Amino acid sequence: MLQVQGVFKSYATPQGPLAVLQGVDLQLEHGSSLALMGESGSGKSTLLHLMAGLDQVDRGTISIAGHRLDRMNEAKLANWRRTEIGLVFQQFNLISSLKIDDNLAFQARLAGRFDPLWQAQLIERLGLGDLLKRYPEQLSGGQQQRVAVGRALASRPGLLLADEPTGNLDEATSDEVLQLLLDLLRDSPTSLLMVTHSPRVAARLANKVVLHNGRLADAGKR
Ligand code: ADP
Ligand code: MG
Repeated sequence: MLQVQGVFKSYATPQGPLAVLQGVDLQLEHGSSLALMGESGSGKSTLLHLMAGLDQVDRGTISIAGHRLDRMNEAKLANWRRTEIGLVFQQFNLISSLKIDDNLAFQARLAGRFDPLWQAQLIERLGLGDLLKRYPEQLSGGQQQRVAVGRALASRPGLLLADEPTGNLDEATSDEVLQLLLDLLRDSPTSLLMVTHSPRVAARLANKVVLHNGRLADAGKR
């Protein structure tokens, strides 16, 4: 499903180039899940941004479902992102001027993939029925993250990329959101790659890798 090969990425800084990724290889099988761990500053978000097509590799290749991201132009990439990738961040990133129902449908509508039946299912399974006419600021953190999960899955993407999605939630809420997410993914074709600091969270996913000194080390199966 996802294949990362020999990826290098550095940033220009006033002190000269900062080499962040130095030959990253990664594979994620269709329908599987992977926890991406590593110290703060090790390059986890950088790698996730590259896989989401939000930034470009210096060297190496990333392909998703057989499509090479580095061969797409900006317009194709933007369209690709909308339809094939779901993104969830630590800061829930909901649109503050839109009510919850419109936040949920936003990305799927843009992608031309709005499916009222699936939308209704997501609302029910994420327990959002009573919150649809509220604005994001009127929701708790856990509720907002449930909306962000629903929004990311609304277009039925092949790949869900989540960057510390439970990092801003207390332990009980984090467990609850994660459980809902895993339940939703169980009977869907979506693969999951999740950046997390929490060994507890990582242990719930099928596989785990650790980013260290610009490379990935296999941390073994669950
Ligand atoms: P992580 O998500 O693992 O905490 P990041 O991928 O955010 O790590 O960052 C990796 C390193 O790259 C850090 O040292 C960070 O300061 C640096 N970095 C990230 N983004 C940029 C940028 N746009 N310009 C310069 N340096 C950056
Ligand atoms: Mg990060």
